Amino acid sequence: MQLRARRSISTCPACGTASRRVHSHYQRKLADLPWEGLPVVILLQARKFFCAGDSCRRKIFTELLPGTVARYARRSCRSSEALHWLTLALGGRAGARLARRLGFPAYRSTLLRSLRHRMQPTAVTAPRVLGIDDWAWRKAHRYGTILCDLEAGKVVDLLPDREAATVAAWLQDHPGKEIVSRDRASAYAEATRRAAPQAVQIADRWHLMRNMSEALRTALEPHHRVLKQAAQGSIQGFIASAPPPLPSSTLSAKQQNRQRRYSLYEEMKALARNEPIRYRSTTRPQSAHRAAMDTCRRLS
Ligand SMILES: [Zn+2]
Repeated sequence: MQLRARRSISTCPACGTASRRVHSHYQRKLADLPWEGLPVVILLQARKFFCAGDSCRRKIFTELLPGTVARYARRSCRSSEALHWLTLALGGRAGARLARRLGFPAYRSTLLRSLRHRMQPTAVTAPRVLGIDDWAWRKAHRYGTILCDLEAGKVVDLLPDREAATVAAWLQDHPGKEIVSRDRASAYAEATRRAAPQAVQIADRWHLMRNMSEALRTALEPHHRVLKQAAQGSIQGFIASAPPPLPSSTLSAKQQNRQRRYSLYEEMKALARNEPIRYRSTTRPQSAHRAAMDTCRRLS
């Protein structure tokens, strides 16, 4: 696809003066949104202009086309936008795989670099309720610390490691915390004690549950034989006290449906084993069941 700008005037990005004097033309090759799964390339005829400003140090400038293509970009804006959302949803590797299937030739590293480029650094503020936990830069290799504003539900900052000194330095630089929710790591407890002694330290819900399950296991482990006997007795009692199966006429519609689904499941299993089918339900397979079974037969 070949494109050229129709405007006769362009504005100097340095001084803002409009100019009509074209210096030269050159061609830019841009990847665009795919068409029917096929990659589309735009051959854009770009222009350079003479700057008309007397005091401007830039004598020649390149025409900017905001909304169409960014400066130095090799993709159209709409193509970059689509890839950006794809990367946010799927990440680098899966995003690149799907992008190639859709007709966007893109590498994983390109997607991640573009994502990092778009991320604007924001001023880090200290939240009132701070959550501290570790997270993996690369699982089983390198871990860092993640800091979250638990009231806003947002990530505040990422630290390169999970050392007490690093966390303490961050806490000192960002005063004002009232509550610090942390995991059971002693490094975070020590960092909070050292750098934010006024803050109340609490354990988060996940770690509380884990503490409780570990305490229960420790307490009950010496009695596992008694517990096993009690469990077996209760299971047998439950089986003995279960009511006999009702005749199909007294079953509710929900129960009949369940029985039908179960019989279908059994039939599928028999098909998978190449065994003759035994109809256990009181009803013959319905048309939907027949269709499913035909499909299975075709597949097997
Ligand atoms: Zn200028």
